[in-house]
Amino acid sequence: MNNSEYKIVIAGSGPGGLMAALALKKQGFSSLVVESASREKICADIGGSYHIGSPTLSVLEHLGVAEQCRSAGTRFSTLKVFASDGSVIMKMPLPQNIDMMTLRRSSLQTSLLSLLDQSQMRCEVSVSSFEEIEEKVLVKLSTGEQIQTKLLIGADGVNSKVRQVLLNDGLPRFCNLTCCWGRVKLDQIKNLKNFTTNDAITQLGLGSSIAIATINNEVIWSAFWRTTNFQRSEDPIKRKSQVMEKFSSWASPTPEIIMATPSEIIAEVGIWDRDPCKNWYKGRVVLIGDAVHPMTPFLGQGANSAMIDAFVLAHYLGRQPYATAFKSYQQRRKPITDRNIKTAREISDYTTTDKRWKHFLSTSFLRFMPKSIILNTMLKADQLNDISDILTTTK
Ligand SMILES: Cc1cc2nc3c(=O)[nH]c(=O)nc-3n(C[C@H](O)[C@H](O)[C@H](O)COP(=O)(O)OP(=O)(O)OC[C@H]3O[C@@H](n4cnc5c(N)ncnc54)[C@H](O)[C@@H]3O)c2cc1C
Repeated sequence: MNNSEYKIVIAGSGPGGLMAALALKKQGFSSLVVESASREKICADIGGSYHIGSPTLSVLEHLGVAEQCRSAGTRFSTLKVFASDGSVIMKMPLPQNIDMMTLRRSSLQTSLLSLLDQSQMRCEVSVSSFEEIEEKVLVKLSTGEQIQTKLLIGADGVNSKVRQVLLNDGLPRFCNLTCCWGRVKLDQIKNLKNFTTNDAITQLGLGSSIAIATINNEVIWSAFWRTTNFQRSEDPIKRKSQVMEKFSSWASPTPEIIMATPSEIIAEVGIWDRDPCKNWYKGRVVLIGDAVHPMTPFLGQGANSAMIDAFVLAHYLGRQPYATAFKSYQQRRKPITDRNIKTAREISDYTTTDKRWKHFLSTSFLRFMPKSIILNTMLKADQLNDISDILTTTK
């Protein structure tokens, strides 16, 4: 197989699509990333701060951007969980001997983009459809253009167009959760209690929760609450008062942080996932990341999984004919992401439940379960992503 003749089209430039382009380049393939958003939007923050696990960091290390990410991110020393009345549910030191960190999506995306050749990317153009003809895929773009390629990778997120054409298996599942997130400079917040910048803080109430992280003197929060349907408020002031309404009666630090956040920065998203998907590829088209296994953000694994998927797929494509490579990729990644979809769903169901007995169970679990068990549960998802065997064989 002559890799240099291989042109691969990647739909989407989230963490999965960018990692795919970079990992494929390392394997000697040329690729083109087609992205519907503008370049500025690709680097915008969605979903607060990202936990980046040790296997993902080793991939970033391999690409040469780990230091850039580390200096933009942070490492927490303690995980603190409070009840909405401010009482302590759990305080747990986080291991300092495991390489992991938290950073903003914008920092991650900027670091990955810095490694990508400008000519390898087209922004503000969507993949609208595709067709497999003989030994090629004809990719149809929103501009009316058509690109011929040997392989198409669908990295186009939870509402993937590539998946729709490939599998036609319906819409993602709404998880009955709305999320608002925002960020505010630490020195803008008054009267903070229960707060130090080295802590990863979670506050749990009945039917709602909030995660708070401080990165480079900026406090980043993601608040979740139960809803039966999702309707984004277009007016930023209404959006902020909606969040305040949910959280203003809570003990510090939540109301102070939300109150200090400028309303125009607050974003609102619905949370969607899917049941595990049987086939991740068909013919010359394959899916990665949220396009194939969207999961709730409560396990901190969506972006990690998308990047590890991309790296593993590129590894096999560099060594096997595409059909075998797709199979090897699915065989390796599907059991892990199937498990993570389920675990992420369970965590979101318990930590944001509006049923009193379930809320009692989840807070009791955190209060009384040995910390080692809670820590192992948290670290398990990162451990499953381990790809050290692949990294030792990759230049
Ligand atoms: C509140 C919140 C918190 C989160 N926290 C974490 C966390 O701590 N850790 C973690 O690992 N993950 C986290 N996630 C999940 C994470 O954001 C996603 O799982 C991750 O972004 C998936 O990456 P992706 O590359 O598969 O898709 P995306 O990041 O969704 O990227 C898809 C890209 O494709 C583009 N696109 C869409 N359609 C088309 C088309 N037809 N043609 C061309 N381009 C297209 C989009 O514009 C987008 O740029 C969180 C998510 C939320 C909402």
